Parts: sequence; structure tokens; C-alpha cells
Amino acid sequence: MKVPILLYHQIATPPAKGAPFRSMYVSPASFRRQMWLLRRLGFQGLSLREAMPFIRGEKTGKVAAITFDDGFCNVHANALPVLQEFGFTATNFFVANQIGGSNEWDRPLGIAHAACMDERQIEDWLAAGNEVGSHSLDHRHLTAIGAEEARRQILSSKFRLEQITRQPVTSFSYPYGDCSPSVRSMVKDAGYAVATGTDKRRAQAQDDMTELPRWTIRRGDTLLHFLLKCLVR
Ligand SMILES: [Zn+2]
Repeated sequence: MKVPILLYHQIATPPAKGAPFRSMYVSPASFRRQMWLLRRLGFQGLSLREAMPFIRGEKTGKVAAITFDDGFCNVHANALPVLQEFGFTATNFFVANQIGGSNEWDRPLGIAHAACMDERQIEDWLAAGNEVGSHSLDHRHLTAIGAEEARRQILSSKFRLEQITRQPVTSFSYPYGDCSPSVRSMVKDAGYAVATGTDKRRAQAQDDMTELPRWTIRRGDTLLHFLLKCLVR
């Protein structure tokens, strides 16, 4: 069956008009409305790990995978309580060298400072049944840094996050969606079961599990846009 994999970044009040990448902020109220709508339509919101049996066709049911990139504190503050309210789980892809740090990689693009979750907040995230995935060590373009460094970004982030969570980390998200056949095989060799790519449609069993399609949910998405992403393509 087809499963929408939804991607969020920051769940926070968007910055003033004209700020770069403003579309990557979804307000707490919009996020709550979207989760409410999923529930209303009979969807179960699940982490990518829990959604995989549905994507692979081993289980059937109306499921949406909920994912966040970058591990921001505002997801802990504004999304975690909503997920718990609706009985949903989600995956957050953390930048392993920025646990308790911030979005340093965004700064050259002019994006405002945003804090990343620390280990205590990650514990809360896990305690609610959510998944910790890897978004590399430093959020670099993996196809542009040479094979050895790309492998280190993929492998060492897994080790670091497994140390923190004391759980296997089996899901990966490519920073900037940037990947290639060789980067994908590094991810597979590192022991990840699944990674998300940049195609925009729902995921299904025939898809390459190292490049699953994913829908970015943007600030300007109306409930109708949201619905089309979950139900149609
Ligand atoms: Zn990212």
C-alpha cells in the first residue's frame, strides 16, 4: 500500500516576511490542525521505523509516517505534546555533532539561529515511543566531500546516536536530500535499513529503501495541499 512520508523542519512561529527559507517553519497551530485532520481521516501517524512494515506491504492499514529533519528544540516543545495528544509517533533525524547545539550549517544561508535538542530532550523524545534517526554528523553535502569523509559522516553519526539512545539507529536522512548511488550504498553498508530521498509522492513496496520518497510540508500549505500530499500522489 502507499504510505505518505511527511517531512517537517521547525514547528515554530515563522520569522518576519522576507526571511530566507520561511517556508520551512510550520506554526504550532497548523501542525496541530494537520495532525487532527490525519486522525479525523482515520490515519495512524507513525515513526518511519514503525511505518516500514506497511510500506513493505507486510501490514495493512491507513498509515502516515511523520518525520522531522535536524532535531530542533521547537519540535520537542511544540510537536511532541501534539503527537502524544493524538497517540502518534514520529522520527526525528538528528545532526549528531549538534546535540545540544544549533543549526550552524544553516547560518551561511541567513537562516536564524535555532537550538537543537540536547540529550535530556532526546530522552523525552524516545520515552514517548518516537524514533531517533541520523542526519549525519555535520549536515554537509555528502556527494561533495569525498568518499572517506562521507562514510565517516554516515557511520560515526550512527555510533554517536546509538551511544546516546542505547538503541539501534536504522533510519537515515541525507542532508539537503543530496545523495548518489555510492552514497546510498555507504548508507546500506553502514547498517541502515532505510533512508529518505527527494522524490515527491507516497512510498510503496517497490521503492528503493535507501531512497524513499517524502513530502515536505511547508508553511504555506493549506489543509487541501496537506490532504493531496497524504491521499493522492
Ligand atoms: Zn537538514
